[in-house]
Amino acid sequence: MKVKTLEIDGKLVTGGPEETIFQAAWNNGIRIPRLCHIGGLSDIGACRLCLVEVEGQNRLLASCLTPVEEGMKVRTNTESLRRYRKLLIELLFAERNHVCAVCVANGACELQDLAMSLGVTHIRVPSQLPHLPVDISHDRFGVDHNRCVLCSRCLRVCDEVEGAHTWDIAGRGRKSMMVCDLGEPWGVSQSCTGCGKCVQVCPTGALFLKGKTVGEMRKDRSFLNFIVTAREKHIWIR
Ligand code: SF4
Ligand code: SF4
Repeated sequence: MKVKTLEIDGKLVTGGPEETIFQAAWNNGIRIPRLCHIGGLSDIGACRLCLVEVEGQNRLLASCLTPVEEGMKVRTNTESLRRYRKLLIELLFAERNHVCAVCVANGACELQDLAMSLGVTHIRVPSQLPHLPVDISHDRFGVDHNRCVLCSRCLRVCDEVEGAHTWDIAGRGRKSMMVCDLGEPWGVSQSCTGCGKCVQVCPTGALFLKGKTVGEMRKDRSFLNFIVTAREKHIWIR
């Protein structure tokens, strides 16, 4: 196993041959913004927030999908990357109805945190204000499509960790929507085990626990590390 040495934001770091730029950065205390990545699930490069500049490349690369290479020089936080990420966040806000003041995830939302850290105070593109459904047919959970950023964390955790594959994405482009099974209400899903993993990994208020107040809507993702470590290393960490 040959370790690679590279430079990230001027800092000399090392990464294993299987590691991505995102992982190498994370392991060395460099935080790259992201919405779709979550440790323990496969990476798909959907949100594009983790794009970085790599010397010698004429395009930006998704750090969650790009393996480290010997001698690489990576920049993760330049002025143009910050501008680009800010616009991406604005587009996400414009695409659906993210009204934080009346959202159950207010104060515990990764999209809101990113907007604040990137200085998004308003959006410069017209808001689409779509009329999207809220499905509260499940006994314990609800899905508000108005808050969904299509990160597919729910789909991946349900498929890769729970093994149920209840969620999927239907439609294309701005008409894309998360669907349960073949588009049935969540409450009548035959495949859902009711484990709640999808709710815990959702970065916004799109998936929520019914009956919880805003102050109680804190998501616990520690189960992911526990299950993945147990599966891959056969170590029970709790
Ligand atoms: S509750 Fe569990 S089984 Fe049901 S959709 Fe969510 S992750 Fe899948
Ligand atoms: S429901 Fe939540 S986890 Fe699923 S795609 Fe939408 S934002 Fe992501």
